[in-house]
Amino acid sequence: MKFTFPTTRWMLILLMTLFISSVGNWAFWSDFFKFLPNSGLRSIAFTVGTFFVIAGLIGSFFSLVIWPKIDKIIFIILLISTALGCYFMVTYGIVIDEDMLTNVFQTDIKESHDLLSWKLITTFFLLGVLPSFLVWKFKLTQKSVLQNVTENIIVFITSILIALLSVFAVYQDFASLMRNQPHIRFLITPLNTIYGLGQLSFKPLFTIKKPFQTIGQDAVLIQPNSNNKLPPMLVLVIGETARSGNLEINGYTKPTTPHLRNYFNQQEISSFKNVWSCGTSTATSLPCMFSPLGKEEFENRKNDSENFLDIFTKVGMGVIWIDNQSGCKKNCARIPTYETADLKDEQLCTTGTCLDEIMLKDLDKKINLLSAVQREKGIVIVLHQMGSHGPAYYKRSPNTLKQFLPECTTNVLQECKKQELINAYDNSIIYLDHFLHQTIEWQKARKDQYAMSMVYLSDHGESLGENNIYLHGLPYAIAPSVQKKVPWITWLAPEFQKQRGIDQKCLNKISDQKLSHDHLFHSVLGLMNIQTKEYQKPLDIYSSCAK
Ligand SMILES: [Zn+2]
Repeated sequence: MKFTFPTTRWMLILLMTLFISSVGNWAFWSDFFKFLPNSGLRSIAFTVGTFFVIAGLIGSFFSLVIWPKIDKIIFIILLISTALGCYFMVTYGIVIDEDMLTNVFQTDIKESHDLLSWKLITTFFLLGVLPSFLVWKFKLTQKSVLQNVTENIIVFITSILIALLSVFAVYQDFASLMRNQPHIRFLITPLNTIYGLGQLSFKPLFTIKKPFQTIGQDAVLIQPNSNNKLPPMLVLVIGETARSGNLEINGYTKPTTPHLRNYFNQQEISSFKNVWSCGTSTATSLPCMFSPLGKEEFENRKNDSENFLDIFTKVGMGVIWIDNQSGCKKNCARIPTYETADLKDEQLCTTGTCLDEIMLKDLDKKINLLSAVQREKGIVIVLHQMGSHGPAYYKRSPNTLKQFLPECTTNVLQECKKQELINAYDNSIIYLDHFLHQTIEWQKARKDQYAMSMVYLSDHGESLGENNIYLHGLPYAIAPSVQKKVPWITWLAPEFQKQRGIDQKCLNKISDQKLSHDHLFHSVLGLMNIQTKEYQKPLDIYSSCAK
C-alpha cells in the first residue's frame, strides 16, 4: 500500500511538526495546563501562541536535518525516541537532559527490565511504531537538489518567523512560565533530547582533556604504635535512592529503622541528618563522592583523576568493591571488583536482581584473596547497594520484612495509591535497616581480627509523587530537596574508637551540622589515619570528635 498524499517533503515535515508539537509533546502539555496562569481568552491565546512557538522551533529543526534519502529514517528515530521520552516523562515526572541521557546510556538491562509495563508498550506502539509505519509508507516525489534546498530554506524561514511572532504575541505569560517553571523547557520533545545529546557530545571538545591525574603519591598510613593492635577495617556501604527523611532515626514518623534505633539508643551509631548529595543520580553522584574535588570543582573538572580508594591501595591496604547494582561508575577501575549480577541464590536472588545481603555472602573468601601484607595494614570494603532503587520498590524487600501493607506492586507508579507507593518505598528502608544490621553483626563477629568501622552514605534521594514528580535525576538546581538530602550513618567498634581516639557519642552532638558528599573523601581518609596533601581537615567530619 502506498499513500499518494502528501507527496512533497515539506508536507511531510508539516504533518510531523503538527503531530510532534501536539501529541508527541504530551508531557509538555500536561505540565503546561497545570501552570496555565489565566483563565478565559488570555489563556486560550497563550496556549495557541505556545503551540506555535513549539511548532515553529520543531519545524525549523526539521528543515535542517530532513533531506532526501535520510528523511524517513530520521523521522522514525525521532518518533521512537519521542514515544519513549513521552512515556517516561509523563509516568515518572522526569525531564530529559544531559544527565538523564547519561543515566540511560549507563543503565543495565536488568534495571531497564524493571521499567517495562503494558502502558509503556502501548505508548511505544501508538506514538512510535504506528506513525513510523505511516511515514515509511509515504511516497515522496523526486526533486532536484536545488528544489530541495530551496524548499528547506523556505520551511526554515517560515518556521522561525512563526516561532518569533508567537513569542512576541504571548511574551509576558511565556517568559513568566519559563522563569517560574524552569524544568518545563526540558519537556519540549524532541528538542530536549537533541540539546542533551549535543551537550554530551560537544562538551568534551571544549574542555581541555589533560591526562588522567594520579593523586596521593605522598600518602602514608599512620599505624597504631603497639605491635598487638588490630588492623583497621572500614566497610563503606554506598546506598541507593535513600531519602534521609524516611529513616525513623532521622525523624520519620513510621518505624522504618528498628535495628538502627537500637544501636542509636545504645550509642553505638551516629546519624548525620543534614547531608546533601553531589548529584541527583547514581551516574553523577558516585564519581563525585569518591573524588578529591568538591561538587563545584568536580563539575568543572578538566580531567578525571584517581579517588580515595586508590590512596588506600597506595598505602598498602587491601581494597575490594562489591557491586549489587549497575556498576561502580569507574570508581573501582583499579581495585578487585565482584559483581553479583550473575549470582543465583534461592533466597536472595528471586526477582531478577539480588537483595543486598548477597554482598556479605562469601565475603571472608574475598578478603582471604588479598595478600597477608595488605590484611596486616588494613582493609576497605565497598558494598554498592541496590538499596531502594525504583520504580519497582516492592522488589527491594523480602516478604518477611514487608511491614507496611498494602504496597504498590507495579512500576507504573501513578497507578498506585500514594500510600501504597510510600509503603513499598518504606519497606525498602526497613530492608536497608536490616542490611546495615547484618553488616554490623558480620563485623562484630570478626572483631578479634580487625578494628571495625562501618560508614553508610546514600548517593541521592527520591521523589515519591510529591508535585507529581517520581524517581530522581532532575537537574540539581530545580530538583526538590527529597532527591538531594541523604542519610549518613557511622558505626565504630569500641576497639576502633580506642585506636583512633574518636568518640562515637561526640558524633551525635554534631549530627545536625550541614554536610555534603564533599566531606566523604576527607572523612574516610581521616578515619583510616592516612596523611596526604590531598586531605583537608575541615572537611573531615570525624576529626572534630578525635582526640
Ligand atoms: Zn543512585
